[in-house]
Amino acid sequence: MITRTPEETRAVARALAQELGPGDVVSLSGDLGAGKTVFVQGMAEALGVTEPVTSPTFTLVHTYAGRVPLVHVDVYRLERLGEFDDLALDEIAADAVIAVEWGDSVADALPPSRTEVALRFGDGDDERFIEVHRGEG
Ligand code: ADP
Ligand code: MG
Repeated sequence: MITRTPEETRAVARALAQELGPGDVVSLSGDLGAGKTVFVQGMAEALGVTEPVTSPTFTLVHTYAGRVPLVHVDVYRLERLGEFDDLALDEIAADAVIAVEWGDSVADALPPSRTEVALRFGDGDDERFIEVHRGEG
C-alpha cells in the first residue's frame, strides 16, 4: 500500500500490531529513512506502549512495557550474524512482540514464522510503499 505521511504509516502499523501477540516477530526492511522506526512507533501505540519509541541504533535493543511488551531491535551495526545470535532473541522476548529493523540482514536468525514489512521510498519526500507479509505463526 501507499502512505503519504508518517501518521498514515503508523496507522498501517497499528492495524498490523492489533493482530500480534507474545512471541510474534516482525522483520522490517528498507533503506535509511524509509520509515522503519516510524512503523515501530505505530506498532507501539497499538500495543499500549506509552513511552516514546526512539531509534535503537546505538543501543541495539529497547524494551517497552505495554499491554503486550515490545522489544525493538536495530541490527544495523551488527556485522556478523554471530553477534545477533548473542542477543538470544528467543530468551529475552517470549512474552513480547519483537520488531527487528534491518531484519532482512539477519533473516537466518529469525523464526520462519516472522511477519515481514518492507518499506520503500515513493515519489517526493513523504510517499512510501509498504508491503506486509504476515507470518504463519
Ligand atoms: P528508518 O528507521 O527506516 O531509518 P525513520 O522511521 O527513522 O526511518 O525515518 C523516516 C523519516 O521519514 C521520518 O523523518 C519521517 O518523518 C519521514 N517520513 C515522511 N513521510 C513518511 C511516511 N509516509 N511514512 C514514514 N515516514 C515518513
Ligand atoms: Mg530506524
